[in-house]
Amino acid sequence: VLKSLSIALIHYPVVDRNGAVITSSVTNLDLHDIARSARTFGVKRYFVVHPSDDEQALNRRIIRHWQSEFALGVHPTRKPAVSLISLEKDFDSVLATIESEEGKPLVVATSARKHPTKSILESEIKTKREEQPVLILFGTGYGLHESWLDRIDAFLPPISGADDYNHLSVRSAVAIYLDRLIH
Ligand code: SAM
Repeated sequence: VLKSLSIALIHYPVVDRNGAVITSSVTNLDLHDIARSARTFGVKRYFVVHPSDDEQALNRRIIRHWQSEFALGVHPTRKPAVSLISLEKDFDSVLATIESEEGKPLVVATSARKHPTKSILESEIKTKREEQPVLILFGTGYGLHESWLDRIDAFLPPISGADDYNHLSVRSAVAIYLDRLIH
């Protein structure tokens, strides 16, 4: 049986369009939209990582609302998806959670830019999951800051399309990758 596949949405350190390090805000849409992809493709946990206690308290309230009786009446399919969300303060907490349950994960990142030195193919992920859990990192803002490099084991190839334009929303990138990774 395969070890788990988890995803993490990173809000710090990420870069802005000038390459400066920023902390991006969690957007509501990323919470439930990516949670639906996670539920669809059998992801064990969708980690939403943000350093601000206030932001995470707000996100917790939003998630609780979606799981309330009232919300269930309106959007019954949302609860199974948002139940996969784990709000974490930092990456070490994400790793600690996975390690406590299944052992050290393979940390795989995604980017619209190529990273030929440390790359892994979608087709290799399933084989890796026979040995260890796999965690896929997604960025926000204009992508993961380069300081993530020494915490990442490998990058998946960028999603490319008709020409060199490939600035997808993180929500679209998650769905495309997950479909490839589990089939
Ligand atoms: N803030 C925008 C949004 O999501 O609405 C910009 C997208 S966000 C920074 C970019 C992230 O989405 C990257 O860190 C990566 O995880 C993913 N992404 C976007 N385009 C991609 C592509 N062509 N290939 C791989 N990942 C991509």
